Amino acid sequence: MSMIVNRRDLDFVLYETLDLEAILKSERFADYDRESLDAMMDLCQSVAEDQFLPCAAKLDANEPQFVDGKVETIPELKEAINAYREAGLCTSAYDADVGGMQLPCIVDQALNGMFVCANNPAHIYLFLTQGVANMLNVCGSDKLKERYLPKLVEGEWFGTMCLSEPQAGSSLADIRSKADPLDDGSYKITGTKMWISGGEQDITDNIIHMVLAKIPGSPPGVKGISLFLVPKTRVNEDGSLGDSNNIALAGLNHKMGCRGATNCLLNFGESGDSIGYLVGEANQGLANMFHMMNEARISVGMSAVMSGLGGYLYSLDYARNRPQGRPLVNRNPEDPQVMISEHADIKRMLMTQKAFIEGAQTLIYYSAQLIDQKKLAMERRI
Ligand SMILES: Cc1cc2nc3c(=O)[nH]c(=O)nc-3n(C[C@H](O)[C@H](O)[C@H](O)COP(=O)(O)OP(=O)(O)OC[C@H]3O[C@@H](n4cnc5c(N)ncnc54)[C@H](O)[C@@H]3O)c2cc1C
Repeated sequence: MSMIVNRRDLDFVLYETLDLEAILKSERFADYDRESLDAMMDLCQSVAEDQFLPCAAKLDANEPQFVDGKVETIPELKEAINAYREAGLCTSAYDADVGGMQLPCIVDQALNGMFVCANNPAHIYLFLTQGVANMLNVCGSDKLKERYLPKLVEGEWFGTMCLSEPQAGSSLADIRSKADPLDDGSYKITGTKMWISGGEQDITDNIIHMVLAKIPGSPPGVKGISLFLVPKTRVNEDGSLGDSNNIALAGLNHKMGCRGATNCLLNFGESGDSIGYLVGEANQGLANMFHMMNEARISVGMSAVMSGLGGYLYSLDYARNRPQGRPLVNRNPEDPQVMISEHADIKRMLMTQKAFIEGAQTLIYYSAQLIDQKKLAMERRI
């Protein structure tokens, strides 16, 4: 039995509770039908089961280490992410015009759900990158998109979102990071960002940080926040990697329950200039960052649901394989024991788990279906 998915239950949610067939009839998704999506699900299930699941416990027991100002992760994490990349799955969340698979959002969520269930911390690096790329695609200039988007879409570079600071969590109006304009149109970024997921890692050779900062003279509070793209390593005109952009890893935070994904304290512009590039209009940073945060909300919800699904599948497997006691109608000690899944109260508990999981999964996929329906409705209007 699979420990990351029950395909029959998933199909029930996608095709019988929701209406994926109707979405597949649109011109936008004409390349896909149920058969091709089933094959894609098979591929994802096998990569998730063969590469992500086996290293989940090791990753949890061996959280990333801070060594000489850098991060070291276990090799299995890189192998798992490479397998995901090689299967072309990094492109699952994007439209064809930027090199993506142009899958319905509901399918993208369903197939990524298997990876989240198998190894949520490993998947965090991937979903953050998808959020960065989608936000850059909507808000970034052509020049920024040309230079950074393809590498993010292919998963060659990963991305982060840098909002929080030690004194500014919920209250982003209080951020202090500063962006001083330079003559060439770029900005010098200074400040400290706290709790940055994937802020440093040894999986990709560049990290693209999306940083909220204030340009001197901008309005106070959230109305004066702008968004900047700040690469870990500078990128030359020809796309090759240049000098370090002086983003110092000041520490790793230890998280309960999600130890395998780094969470970092980063100092910008401390040991030299950290150069950033404005994304979108000045002072519109928070609104632009919400393109990413809204997407991240579904993914964070998915993490919770998939933890629940994993818990349910392991409980079910145990209950089906643990012989104990006999049915109420047969107390004969000479007869063999039955599996505990046959006892009424165990059935009740398993069904409670299943009902919560299926309900929550449906809510996630319903949200994704609304995103697809909105896209299709907008296209019909054009
Ligand atoms: C696992 C994890 C990953 C993260 N990854 C990132 C990341 O990648 N990038 C990033 O920028 N940040 C990240 N964060 C930081 C996260 O965004 C902040 O934790 C969040 O904004 C809350 O800030 P805080 O922790 O400082 O809590 P606080 O703002 O100190 O809030 C503490 C409590 O007070 C409540 N509270 C605060 N203000 C009010 C109010 N005005 N009215 C009522 N209640 C209030 C809050 O709801 C909360 O319950 C991450 C955090 C975690 C836990």
